[in-house]
Amino acid sequence: MLVGIDLGTTHSLVSVWSDHGPRLIPNALGSVLTPSVVALDDAGQVLVGAAARERMRSHPRHAVATFKRYMGTDRLSMLGERSFRPEELSALVLKSLLADVEAETGERASEAVISVPAYFSDAQRKATRNAGTLAGITVERLVNEPTAAALAYGLEQRDGESRFLVIDLGGGTFDVSILELFEQVMEVHATAGDNFLGGEDFVDVLAQACCADLGLKKSQLGLADTVELCARMERLKCQLSQGGGSTELSINGRSHAWQIDEARFEQLAAPLLARMRDPIERVLRDARLGAAQLDEVILVGGASRMPMVSRLVTRMFGRLPLRHINPDEAIARGSAVMAGLKSRAAALDEVVMTDVCPYTLGIQTAERLPSGHVQQGIYSPIIERNTVVPTSRSGVYNPLADFSPVLKLRVYQGESVQVASNVFLGELEIELPQAKASEMPVEVRFTYDINGLIEVEATLLATRVKHRLMIQQNPGLLTPAEIAERLAALQHLKVHPRDDQANLAIIARAERLYEERSGSLRQQLAQWLTAFRGELESQEPLRIRAAQRRMQELLTQLEADSPF
Ligand code: AMP
Repeated sequence: MLVGIDLGTTHSLVSVWSDHGPRLIPNALGSVLTPSVVALDDAGQVLVGAAARERMRSHPRHAVATFKRYMGTDRLSMLGERSFRPEELSALVLKSLLADVEAETGERASEAVISVPAYFSDAQRKATRNAGTLAGITVERLVNEPTAAALAYGLEQRDGESRFLVIDLGGGTFDVSILELFEQVMEVHATAGDNFLGGEDFVDVLAQACCADLGLKKSQLGLADTVELCARMERLKCQLSQGGGSTELSINGRSHAWQIDEARFEQLAAPLLARMRDPIERVLRDARLGAAQLDEVILVGGASRMPMVSRLVTRMFGRLPLRHINPDEAIARGSAVMAGLKSRAAALDEVVMTDVCPYTLGIQTAERLPSGHVQQGIYSPIIERNTVVPTSRSGVYNPLADFSPVLKLRVYQGESVQVASNVFLGELEIELPQAKASEMPVEVRFTYDINGLIEVEATLLATRVKHRLMIQQNPGLLTPAEIAERLAALQHLKVHPRDDQANLAIIARAERLYEERSGSLRQQLAQWLTAFRGELESQEPLRIRAAQRRMQELLTQLEADSPF
């Protein structure tokens, strides 16, 4: 079975294509949003989702979140004694989603369409594909998140023609794309974004302001206080989307109260809003369109719920954005459409999809100036950004000097004229026969596949010898041997079975509240926990379900009655 997956920075969702359209699959707690958080419990067993998020607050050293930001790098996160790469943590989230699919449909998923930010680089895309391998599935397709969002909307107006601008502000990334739907063909015209701009940056703005107002130094807070501060600010940010906001928090053992209104929040976040303008203006320029030529502006991503984001878009485009599909769900729904397209579902038979590459790709060249001086480090683009994929383009280059023994090709992605400001992807060395430079032209061919993955091939035209650069030497990527090793290691990890998830989340929540509260509330929580554990021992599903409901109500009530 082929599933669609939105592997998000803060939440992940899984969906399948059904006869009635996209169907989102709930997790063991009945929610379609699974927090992208991985934790270890006291016994060293892995928790994923809501229970892990609770544990993050009570045991920050035993939980990791926002690892999507580090995909494509070799950054390690410690969980207890063990270190994990970002793709391993993503694989644990994927496994949890796949278990939900199996529980809900009775079928095991073997393949997936996974959405990635359009602005994800080659290394980040390959890391995502490797995460799929580590989770035991084949990643059939990587779909750009804004493309998926537009597919979810486009499906509703399949008979019309529309030009959409999709603005996706997620937890950690910002993506903008222009797409056109015309005679059942969905075509992406241009895409741009910022991989380091998302809802969390707005949380950070609140945290900085709160610390400044309360006379605290954020950099000097301990880990537990920082986690507590961020959790409070996250909640406050969502409250501010509904109007005013105030919070109480306990830092260094002291309680503090803090208030902020939406107007001040917008003022503080002005630099972030200004950063959102650049990619929006760039896609319009790249697609050679004016704001008036767009039919719809679509807002997706959880952080687009902030009213200041709709206001920015309304100011820029002179119209209200569309947001009737739940912004948390649009990408997952679109991924299911893509899965339906891939498996040739009858209802989607006539929809065709084209996408573009987000970055320019090229090689480093040097030029001999009239003075004889050689200028190094010049970028020579081969595939321009926003070219429709799949695509293959080539350029012909000669060595700089006669009788050079090798020609080094250094491959980059990016938009700057100086290679130093672009991202280095890999290097290819081609041995040259003894000859004059003019007799040794080398054809360099770049291929961008439909998933945005890159291959580079260089052909020495004199001998027709081909060299292939699979851009995998990046330290941020696992080699096939390392993948096999990590796969074996992951299989040895003890992961809580899906059936335990709801109970674990409740226990983790109660334990977190126990740590946060004091005095009689603690006694109360300890009693509830003992009673709840007692019910679990009964092993009677009906009793357990009733106990879960009761416990959730009690904890929600306690949180509401005593914010601190
Ligand atoms: P996503 O990656 O699309 O799941 O988006 C997650 C981001 O959306 C996180 O930074 C959340 O804090 C943010 N978010 C979710 N709901 C709201 C809300 N009501 N107001 C502001 N931000 C929100």
